[in-house]
Amino acid sequence: MSLGEFSLIDRFWQRPPRRTETRLGIGDDCALLKLAADQELVITADTLVSGVHFLADVPPLFLGYKMLAVNLSDLAAMGAEPVAVTLALTLPELDEAWLADLAKGFWRLADDYQLDLIGGDTTQGPLTLTLQAMGKLPQGQALTRSGAQVGDGIYVSGNIGDAGLGLKMALGQIAQVSDVALDRYHQPQPRVASGLALRGLATACIDVSDGLAQDLSHILKQSGVGATLVYEHVPASPAVLDYLRHTGDGLMPLTAGDDYELCCTVPDSQAFRLPENFTRIGTIEAQPGLRLQRHGLLESLDLKGYEHFSPH
Ligand code: ADP
Ligand code: MG
Repeated sequence: MSLGEFSLIDRFWQRPPRRTETRLGIGDDCALLKLAADQELVITADTLVSGVHFLADVPPLFLGYKMLAVNLSDLAAMGAEPVAVTLALTLPELDEAWLADLAKGFWRLADDYQLDLIGGDTTQGPLTLTLQAMGKLPQGQALTRSGAQVGDGIYVSGNIGDAGLGLKMALGQIAQVSDVALDRYHQPQPRVASGLALRGLATACIDVSDGLAQDLSHILKQSGVGATLVYEHVPASPAVLDYLRHTGDGLMPLTAGDDYELCCTVPDSQAFRLPENFTRIGTIEAQPGLRLQRHGLLESLDLKGYEHFSPH
C-alpha cells in the first residue's frame, strides 16, 4: 500500500501534545502556542540540503536527529528553553523505511526535551529538511552576540574539533578512526542546559556551527571589540590532538564547523559561576580583529569557516 501525504503525517509526525504551551498542534491551518505574560518567544529555523549540509547517503536516523539538534543548539545559544518545532519536508519520493528512521532519530531527541511537533509542510522535490524551533525565555534574558565587554574572558563548552575530524572520516579523507569524533559529527549534543546556566552570566553567546574563529568573529563585530585566543587553551579530545600531531593541520579546530558547542564571554568576576564544562580560551580586547597566541607568538587570524555563496 502506498503512503499518501496525509497518512504519512499521521504515521510519523502526529502525536498528542504534551506541553502546556501547546494549545493547538498538527491538523489545522496553524498551530497555537500560549506563553506566560513575562516570557518571550524565541524562534529559529535551519535548512539541511542534501549534498550541502549532509552526504546523500547519510543514515536517516542521524539526519532526523541532527536536523533537530542544530536548531536546539541555536536556542541554547540564546539561553532559551525549547518548547515546540515545525518541520517542512521536501522529499524526492516516499520511501517508508527511510522516513521511519528519519522520524525515529527526530523523536529520540524531541522526547529528551519533551518537545511538541506542532506543524509543518510536506512536499515533493529535491531532498531538503527545514526545521523551525521555538523556545521561551524570561523577558530581557536573551544571550545575544552584541554584549561582549573589554576584559571579558572567552569560554567554550566541551571540546572543539571533534566534528571536523568526524567529517574528514565520513568523507574518507583520512585513515584515522575515532568513534567519538564520528559520533560528534553525526549526533551533536545541543548544549541546552549550558545555555540555561549562562542566563544572567554571559555578556554574549553564540553556538559553534561554522568554525570557532568565524563564529567568535560574529560576537566581536557585533560587540564592537576584538580578542586574542590562546591556541594551547582550546580544549581538544585525544583523537583531535592525535590528528594535529600527525598532520600539522594545526588550525583545523578553529576553522572546522559542526561542533555545536557554545562560545560565550563572561566577566572575570563572574567566572566562578560557570558550569565545569566551560574552558577559558582567550580575552576580549579593545583592539578590533581576532589574534591568535600560539607557541608564545602572536599572529592575526583572518580565517574563514564555512560560508554559502563564497567563492571557494
Ligand atoms: P495546509 O494546507 O494548511 O498547508 P497541510 O495540508 O500542508 O496544511 O498539512 C496538514 C497539517 O499537517 C497541518 O497542520 C500541517 O502543519 C501539518 N504537517 C504537514 N506536514 C508536516 C510535517 N512534515 N511535520 C509536521 N506536521 C506537518
Ligand atoms: Mg501544506
